[in-house]
Amino acid sequence: MHDKFPEYRGQLQYFCLGCGKKFPADELYYTCPECKGVFLLEDTKFDQLKQIPGHKWQEIFDERARTKKNALRGIFRYYELIAPVVEEQDIVYLGEGNTPIIESSPALTKIIGQPLAYKNDGQNPSASFKDRGMACAFSYLKSLIRKYNWEHVLTICASTGDTSAAAALYAAYAGDKIKSVVLLPQGKVTAQQLAQPLGSGALVLEIPGVFDDCMKVVEYLADNFRVALLNSKNAWRILGQESYPFEIAQWYDWDLRGKVIFMPIGNAGNITALMSGFLKLKKLNIISELPRIVGVQSSHADPVFKYYAEEKEKRQFVPVKVSPSVAQAAMIGNPVSFPRVKALVSEYERIGGPGVFNVVQVEEQEIIEGMLLANRHGHIACTQGGECLAGLIRAKEAGLMEKDELAILDATAHSLKFIGFQQMYFEDSFPPDYEIKPKKEFINAPRLVLSEDEKKDLPGQEFTLEAGKRIVEMLGLSKKEI
Ligand SMILES: *Cc1c(COP(=O)(O)O)cnc(C)c1O
Ligand SMILES: [Zn+2]
Repeated sequence: MHDKFPEYRGQLQYFCLGCGKKFPADELYYTCPECKGVFLLEDTKFDQLKQIPGHKWQEIFDERARTKKNALRGIFRYYELIAPVVEEQDIVYLGEGNTPIIESSPALTKIIGQPLAYKNDGQNPSASFKDRGMACAFSYLKSLIRKYNWEHVLTICASTGDTSAAAALYAAYAGDKIKSVVLLPQGKVTAQQLAQPLGSGALVLEIPGVFDDCMKVVEYLADNFRVALLNSKNAWRILGQESYPFEIAQWYDWDLRGKVIFMPIGNAGNITALMSGFLKLKKLNIISELPRIVGVQSSHADPVFKYYAEEKEKRQFVPVKVSPSVAQAAMIGNPVSFPRVKALVSEYERIGGPGVFNVVQVEEQEIIEGMLLANRHGHIACTQGGECLAGLIRAKEAGLMEKDELAILDATAHSLKFIGFQQMYFEDSFPPDYEIKPKKEFINAPRLVLSEDEKKDLPGQEFTLEAGKRIVEMLGLSKKEI
């Protein structure tokens, strides 16, 4: 049974958050043709899924977790809740999803004074959560290529680094009919993130400026020319990213009481998917309670924080001008998905009650030190994962955490992608606008045991013996008893 491909097929439609109009999902739209608003995708047959009781859905998904069928091993384990219109043959699976939740080390738990765990989404194939959405977008794209017999498709995206890495990877795998073009802000992605699309063979274009500028360019292209836009305006990506909340729920045996989910907010696609996913589970009685959510933003890119910091009646969304941030993947002043967040927060609060959604703001210093602290305790958090830990500390200070609540932090990418920021901290080489002053206790650097010059004076292998002796001295080693 766990190897059977699901029979259910939904009826998906785009729902415009600007004007409320609906459009059938047999075509690729990014924004509303009427008002340019952003879309969410909804299954008009969703209520049919309620005929199956919640505990039965739990059994179905638990059973499916054993599958060896490629199409169901990743995000499509939750097929009926993701994109139940794609056929098995179109599903692209590269090992995305199913990332581990790692409890914090006992020492870190003690320091923070709160039970916490990291969900390591950096253990996805291109080393960030973006693969979840890309797997869905490419599966849908493949189904369109088959349906319309397209000769070739050009995919394009603007990126703070990880979207392009994921897009290029999936395009490279999905085959010769798909060609990937990515647009990056020159000098504003890490060396690792630049290497990824280059290695996957994508056409990499750069412009001076920041992500928000790149976004305007690809919007112009997508609005006027035949290209497939893979930014999170593409609502199919949101659907794939909903696998993240589904996996959290499943890991905790569908019981999310006492759990608080921390997530960094950049373009706000991920937090959109987080809320949308949990709401689906709640509506189908797969979970009995919505978990609390805490979004985290740097003071250098905090439009969503600013919005929710206002009293309800006074709230007005104002894009901000960003300053350099070590949480570079979230360095966005005008999040594309903000209308989605706004709509979903209202629904989340309506069902979950007041206080289920909060946004906290953190400083750059706290973000980088959050990452260093986590990784010194055996985690593999990127700077955005560090931002989550900083957010947890802030939330505690603000009285937002109960003593026994479990904080689940999103390490949205692998630490290695953002390792340059660690290096800048260790070398105290941050440009002033980052506002980061390294602390001695966090700094680490290699220590040279013996120099090249000293080696010259030691013939043959003698220098290794000398090096050994020096290390004995440095470490104060005591002799082995025989
Ligand atoms: C994209 C990204 C974010 C921000 O996610 P949004 O969906 O844009 O809010 C955070 N961390 C990493 C590593 C990312 O790649
Ligand atoms: Zn519209």
